[in-house]
Amino acid sequence: FYVSIGQPRIQGCCRTVPLAGHVGFDSLPDQLVNKSVSQGFCFNILCVGETGLGKSTLMDTLFNTKFEGEPATHTQPGVQLQSNTYDLQESNVGLKLTIVSTVGFGDQINKEDSYKPIVEFIDAQFEAYLQEELKIRRVLHTYHDSRIHACLYFIAPTGHSLKSLDLVTMKKLDSKVNIIPIIAKSDAISKSELTKFKIKITSELVSNGVQIYQFPTDDESVAEINGTMNAHLPFAVIGSTEELKIGNKMMKARQYPWGTVQVENEAHCDFVKLREMLIRVNMEDLREQTHTRHYELYRRCKLEEMGFKDTDPDSKPFSLQETYEAKRNEFLGELQKKEEEMRQMFVQRVKEKEAELKEAEKELHEKFDRLKKLHQDEKKKLEDKKKSLDDEVNAFKQRKTAAELLQSQGSQAGGSQTLKRDKEKKK
Ligand code: GDP
Repeated sequence: FYVSIGQPRIQGCCRTVPLAGHVGFDSLPDQLVNKSVSQGFCFNILCVGETGLGKSTLMDTLFNTKFEGEPATHTQPGVQLQSNTYDLQESNVGLKLTIVSTVGFGDQINKEDSYKPIVEFIDAQFEAYLQEELKIRRVLHTYHDSRIHACLYFIAPTGHSLKSLDLVTMKKLDSKVNIIPIIAKSDAISKSELTKFKIKITSELVSNGVQIYQFPTDDESVAEINGTMNAHLPFAVIGSTEELKIGNKMMKARQYPWGTVQVENEAHCDFVKLREMLIRVNMEDLREQTHTRHYELYRRCKLEEMGFKDTDPDSKPFSLQETYEAKRNEFLGELQKKEEEMRQMFVQRVKEKEAELKEAEKELHEKFDRLKKLHQDEKKKLEDKKKSLDDEVNAFKQRKTAAELLQSQGSQAGGSQTLKRDKEKKK
């Protein structure tokens, strides 16, 4: 037995010393296994593909069960993500499996934004995990991790090439999730066409710079099988939950008028390869890659966006505390600047309003003066008119008096003549 003892004062130097007998830490891996088994595992699969490409059927076939769910229609106005979680048990191992499916994918006339809900969904799961991680009282060991570990991308068995919708979507997803492309319903394509189709898809993915998940070859125990399987990508799969009697055995198969295609027959399709790679051999690597590569990238970008950094401009380590203080000072500075700006704006506004009011006051005064003058002129005109009217009235009165006088004199003279005429008549 050997053990390495750290030398705190001489950095990077460890001595290897032999142990005289059994200590017991060789059971550490077993302890880990026991702990993990008792905690259970979780695995989240995202199935991206057009409606009717066999996503639900393949999931049922992969996990040998019938998951709930109604077939989706082709009339969805947009793409929606439907998530279902199931508790599965195999031997003494518990698995919390989440299957997320894209409902309505490829069903709209304008498919430009079809990738967006998928990207948003993946980011939302990362964000939820990051928020849990940043909590003061975090409970990550009991937290239901909903981050997507594997994205099965269902390619239609056209035998031609990838659709632009597929390329755009995969390109948008490749830095966020482990993409495993699969040719769906591969019983619809002939053997020679399939070989060409696989080559075409691979070259299109390479020329468009789409990074798909590569089964890891750094672990000796799985390097060979993973290396071989990488060359078989994208897997051509067939799904069926129907069991047919073939020979003496009941097998999952699809029956056609001309014959039967067996799901688990490697000469018929790559279903077994997919199941082996996805579930039996690389499930842990997919989980690990999700955490160490994709989530790490999301976390880094998000924290940088929030202004956190590991080093200062001189490349010296910069702690979270220092970042927080710097951010706080920056924030306070900005707040003060905003306050000062608002104050200046307020003073300016008051000045403007004051000037406006003064102008209005001046105008009012001028108007008052104008009206006053107008009123005086009017008054003078009326007084003049009154005076001339008074003069007229006086003149009229004088004329009237004179006329009355004349009339009375006239009537006296007229009266004496009448008397004279009456006396003569009597005579
Ligand atoms: P989803 O909308 O992508 O979930 O597709 P479904 O799983 O509901 O499958 C749609 C139809 O395709 C069903 O009638 C399935 O029986 C059929 N189907 C599923 N897998 C295959 C397959 O591998 N080959 C063929 N030919 N048909 C399949």
